[in-house]
Amino acid sequence: MSSDESMTSINLISEPAGRRESQSGEPAKRKFVGIKFNCCRIYVRIYVNQEGTAYEGHCPKCFKPVKLKIGTGGTSSRFFEAY
Ligand SMILES: [Zn+2]
Repeated sequence: MSSDESMTSINLISEPAGRRESQSGEPAKRKFVGIKFNCCRIYVRIYVNQEGTAYEGHCPKCFKPVKLKIGTGGTSSRFFEAY
């Protein structure tokens, strides 16, 4: 295969400054909270779901699911524990 030349031309076209994602209109930062899974004693971050109504994730070790609803008043705490 001789794909080196075509790859070079692609780079020349699509690389003005390297900040395409931040310009696409979507907010880059997703909210997250820290949560401690007491089942496996692991601390991880879980992220807000697409609707923005809850934090959803799972234990990275035993895959136990967890879902934290986000209240209208907002939750004051940034740290949670899952039992
Ligand atoms: Zn676990």
